[in-house]
Amino acid sequence: MSADPNRLPPPPLPQAGWALFFDVDGTLLDFAHTPEGVHVPGDLVDDLQRLHEALDGALALVSGRRIEDLDALFAPLQLPAIGLHGLQRRGPPGAGHAPPHELATVLAAARDLVAKYPGALVEDKGITIALHWRNAPVAEEPLHEFANSALIDLPGYGLQLGRDVIELRPDGHDKGDAIAALLDTGSFHGRLPVFIGDDFTDEHGFDEVNARHGISVLVGARAGSAATHALHDPAAVRAWLREAAFALAGEAAVT
Ligand SMILES: [Mg+2]
Repeated sequence: MSADPNRLPPPPLPQAGWALFFDVDGTLLDFAHTPEGVHVPGDLVDDLQRLHEALDGALALVSGRRIEDLDALFAPLQLPAIGLHGLQRRGPPGAGHAPPHELATVLAAARDLVAKYPGALVEDKGITIALHWRNAPVAEEPLHEFANSALIDLPGYGLQLGRDVIELRPDGHDKGDAIAALLDTGSFHGRLPVFIGDDFTDEHGFDEVNARHGISVLVGARAGSAATHALHDPAAVRAWLREAAFALAGEAAVT
C-alpha cells in the first residue's frame, strides 16, 4: 500500500508514560489461511519483551484468541493479555466463565454445516465459537444465517462480526471494557493508553482510548473507523514497535 485512504497520520514513537495495547491477528501478525497457520517472527518476540520491560510492564496483547493460544504463539513471553475479545483477562483478576451446555450442540451443528463448504472452518474457543469463511466466500451467507438462528438456543449470547469471521460469544464484554479494566491496575494505572488494531472488533478499544485522550491506531484502511492514527500493515507495526523498543530501552539505559 502506498497511501493511506483514511489519511490518518502515523503514531509518534511511544513515550515512557504510555500503556501499549496490541491486537494480534492483522496487527502484529500477518493473516494466514487458518488461525493456527500464523507466523510469529523471532525478532518480534524479542522486541515485545524489550518494550514490555521499558514500559515497566505496561504492554498487553488484546485479541480474539484465547490467552493460552497467545502464550503458545509468543513463547516464552507471557504478557499481560486480554483474550476472547475481552472475556479473558490476565492482569486484573478476571471473572471465570463456563460455557452453557447448549454450546456443545451448536458446535456440532456448526461442524456439520462447514463440512459442506470446503475451506470454511469452525474454531472452538471453549466459551465462544468462531465461524470462518476466509477460504470459502460462498459460506458467508449460510454461516451468518446459522449464527443468527443459533442465538435462539444461547441466551445471553450475541454475535461479533470480524473480517471473514462471525463469532458467537457472551454479550456485555468487549475490548474497550477490558482495556478500561486493565488501565485501573498495577503498572497500567495512570498511563496514556495507546491501542493498535485492525478489525471492526477493535473499534470498542479505539473508542475507549479516545475517550481517555489516548492514541488509537488503525492498521490498514477501513471506512468509518474511530482511530486517530494509522499504520499500513503488520510489517509497519512491527517496524514501529522495533524502533520504539530500542529507543525506549536506550532511554532507560542512560537514565
Ligand atoms: Mg485483528
